[in-house]
Amino acid sequence: MANSPGVGDRGIRVRMAPSPTGPLHIGTARTSLYNYLFARHVGGTYVLRIEDTDAARGSDEHERDIIDNLHWLGITWDEGPQVAGGEDIGPFGPYHQSQRSSLYAAEAERLLASAQAFRCYCTPEELDAVRREQEERKEPPRYSGRCRNLTDAERDAFETEGRRAAIRFRVPGEVVTFDDLIRGRVEIAAEALGGDRVIVRSDGSPLYHFVVVVDDAAMRITHVIRGEDHLSNTPLHVLLFRALGHDVPVFAHIPLILNPDRTKMSKRRSQTAIRAYREQGYLPEAMVNFLAFLGWSPGTEEEIFALKTLAERFEIEHVHKAGAVFDKDRLDYLNGVYIRSLTDEQLAVRLRSFVPEALDDRGLLAVIPLIKERMVRLADAGELVAFLVEADGEVASRYGPDGLMSPKADAAATAMALTRARTELEATAAEDFAAGELEARCRGAAEALGWKAGDFFKPMRVAITGRTVSPPLFGSMELLGRERCLARIDAALAKLATVVAA
Ligand code: GLU
Repeated sequence: MANSPGVGDRGIRVRMAPSPTGPLHIGTARTSLYNYLFARHVGGTYVLRIEDTDAARGSDEHERDIIDNLHWLGITWDEGPQVAGGEDIGPFGPYHQSQRSSLYAAEAERLLASAQAFRCYCTPEELDAVRREQEERKEPPRYSGRCRNLTDAERDAFETEGRRAAIRFRVPGEVVTFDDLIRGRVEIAAEALGGDRVIVRSDGSPLYHFVVVVDDAAMRITHVIRGEDHLSNTPLHVLLFRALGHDVPVFAHIPLILNPDRTKMSKRRSQTAIRAYREQGYLPEAMVNFLAFLGWSPGTEEEIFALKTLAERFEIEHVHKAGAVFDKDRLDYLNGVYIRSLTDEQLAVRLRSFVPEALDDRGLLAVIPLIKERMVRLADAGELVAFLVEADGEVASRYGPDGLMSPKADAAATAMALTRARTELEATAAEDFAAGELEARCRGAAEALGWKAGDFFKPMRVAITGRTVSPPLFGSMELLGRERCLARIDAALAKLATVVAA
């Protein structure tokens, strides 16, 4: 282990410690963000440690997803793998738990040598039997303490039997107290830990509670900022830090993220992978702004914050204790704000992967003013601009005669109105074929016929775009050009003719 003594002894050090058992989760992203904001706010060091000891297959893929999506959010760190599959950077590496086994083994030996841990020879069957008896007596599960004080002879006997020992930490019977930066003073009786706890399984693999403490100590972590779901683990961690002779870091447990009905956010009920939000076209700026407010607020009415400003303003003491409700409408709102804050050119770059390739960069830039106000997510653009690249026949195949009709008009009346619209379009020269001119003409025609503008425009919109919801009609017609508009109206009239004739 290449720990250079002295490095990082001073100064604040925080870490995020994701387990690569799935793609980057919204809760992990928020925890990572809070650690980032805290570290940047105080000028400390930020460490990424990959907790891959228990990771099942596919962990490389999840690690990649986690790192890529943290980068996408704009979160950076100073130590640990900087890119997925890349080298671990920093003086306290390796930063993958799967590569730190020798340290864990040595630290467990140290606890055994000081009698703060002991070898436990109980088999899973024996432990199960005890648990069942406890259940019958309606007692909480608790290690019986059978191997706590084995004599050498008893130990030898188990060894001779071929039993392989787990290592248990001797949990002292005390009330563990710590000052949480968010929750204030926390007191939890060690009694609640269920007796002496296994820190290394009989197959030699160490458990999370042990390795997290060994690593936080080895990496000189001064502040542990993590989800409140870990609060009940903290007393055990505090006891382990002490037993290993290390300073106990400062803890800050951040509130859970809740569904709108205040149940705990779960994969089943909500979309939890950051990747999914990214794929739908949420902007990282909006996502970060949204995540920051899941449990924190600046104490003012301000709501739009860039990552840099968040880092300036973020005070960990202002994180709330109460659960943070995940409000998707708020995310949508923020996304719209950020989309509209981009220039058309910037938005074009962001939209490129969300719109059909057939729409060239010029076409994309031209349509942006029409769709910018209408987009909640970048992916919405795909549907909004599709009419520009779809063939006329494809557009026509999207609707039937009924789809063209205005609410109060039948096929014959709709055909009459659409014919009138066609006349206006045909009378407009290609060089005058612009939104303002077209709108003035069509409004005039609607008025002359005694039609409400909206009713008159509906069949036009469906004919031109194949959809009842589209970017502004006349701007869309301008982009499409005179000939294609006429062809699309002709196709619509042909459809109407089939029902008028019948
Ligand atoms: N690997 C743990 C998790 O993903 C880290 C918990 C901690 O921050 O201590 O929940």
